[in-house]
Amino acid sequence: MRIARHTSPVSLADGAVVSEGTSQATGRCSTQASRDQAVDVGYNGPMDADIERVLLDRETIRRRVQELGREIAQVYGNPGENRLDERAGVTLLPILSGSIIFLADLIRELPLMMKLAFVHISSYPGRSTESQPHRTLLELTGDVAGRHVLIVDDILDSGRTLPIVQDAVRQRGPASLRTCVLLRKRGKAPAKLKVDFVGFEIDDLFVVGYGLDFDDLYRNYPHIGVLRAELMS
Ligand code: 5GP
Ligand code: MG
Repeated sequence: MRIARHTSPVSLADGAVVSEGTSQATGRCSTQASRDQAVDVGYNGPMDADIERVLLDRETIRRRVQELGREIAQVYGNPGENRLDERAGVTLLPILSGSIIFLADLIRELPLMMKLAFVHISSYPGRSTESQPHRTLLELTGDVAGRHVLIVDDILDSGRTLPIVQDAVRQRGPASLRTCVLLRKRGKAPAKLKVDFVGFEIDDLFVVGYGLDFDDLYRNYPHIGVLRAELMS
């Protein structure tokens, strides 16, 4: 499939808009390309027709995840120079299910001893869907008490979900708690919601692929793309 990629600028966590190619100055990957640049994204499948445009192709994602691994390793310590209390180990805590592909790639960029724990959060309406507030069901399995916990999520949108998970972890007494999200929608979550590592800042668009779903589909689409609007109505 040949498509024009990155038809809108995507900036990184510090708000900088970067250009095509890896920046020597920052070592960060590029996320902006010209509107008319057609690239072979190496995928031909039935999902192509449903994607309006690719926002982040798999190679751009791969390079940024590699960089995130380095950023995280700086904080959690490289082998032999652990900066944290070594008696408390590291636990990565993905929020299921959207973060599974990101998690799988990220942990292989982290030269750290670690455990995995898992959290699943779902909301369901009360008996009267109109008048009752939504209730939240949270299931957390794994070792987080006394450990350095890094929550891993696919996307930060309104910021409703993340504080619920952060509070649930804090209640279990971690040694430290940090959060990493692959994507953050610009200007949506409250500024006071603290996230330590961000892969890409994106516009307020509904995206799928690389673990992100619509109706549980498209998780295996290798890029992150904007779903055609008519499919969501
Ligand atoms: P929030 O609570 O921050 O509004 O949203 C959190 C969750 O909503 C994300 O972890 C993700 O599962 C889902 N979500 C938010 N925006 C998108 C999007 O653009 N695409 C997909 N597939 N899921 C999203
Ligand atoms: Mg999610």
